[in-house]
Amino acid sequence: MKKQFAVIGLGRFGSSVCKELFQLGHEVLAIDSNDDKVNAISKYATHAVIANGTDENALKSLGIRNFEHVVVAIGDNIQSSILCTLLLKELGIEQVWVKAQNYYHQRVLEKIGADRIVHPEKDMGIRVAQHLVSEKIIDYIDLSEEYSIVELIATDKVSDKTLIDLNVRAKYGCTILAIKRGEDVNVSPFPEDIILKNDILIVIGHKNDLKRFEEEGM
Ligand code: ATP
Repeated sequence: MKKQFAVIGLGRFGSSVCKELFQLGHEVLAIDSNDDKVNAISKYATHAVIANGTDENALKSLGIRNFEHVVVAIGDNIQSSILCTLLLKELGIEQVWVKAQNYYHQRVLEKIGADRIVHPEKDMGIRVAQHLVSEKIIDYIDLSEEYSIVELIATDKVSDKTLIDLNVRAKYGCTILAIKRGEDVNVSPFPEDIILKNDILIVIGHKNDLKRFEEEGM
């Protein structure tokens, strides 16, 4: 289903959010106070406009109230980011997602009602570190402090084996949710399904169990 998004602030983060949403087929209103940034994004957004995200009247005249999701990606200027977020929440935008610059910025954003706060540099740093430590981990999602979902690349050790052979749940306490092979995703693997080298296993479990599986089982 097509959704409507607005992205305010078109630095590297905001512009890549904007492009991706647009390429996924959604309507995107891209806003920045800098005309070069607006011109650069115009091919990758439904509308691209020069406006100040801290100007309440400008936001209203853009019809921002009609958007359910707005991303605030104003980076260095923490004051503008906070004011813009506050205005959007006061205007009744349901989902305001904001890029935070640091921990104090995050705390203020939480107080004024930002619905989701992202730290792209910090999150990416963690991801890169995970990849550096283990080449088997392709990606992961943290579900909580303790539980995650990871994508692991099938090594020789598990290839040509069935899920019964591996017995991951009993041995490691984690569950293989799906197996990706090229473009195919087997979302409800049978116990007899065979894993091939370079398949991607999507595994859920406690972080300690996942680590054990990745280190000892793969
Ligand atoms: P990135 O790391 O994603 O490139 P950044 O943290 O360096 O971003 P900035 O370049 O500081 O972020 O800001 C992102 C964008 O936000 C810039 O293009 C800037 O012009 C725009 N911007 C800053 N203040 C406002 C504002 N009040 N209204 C609209 N856009 C703004």
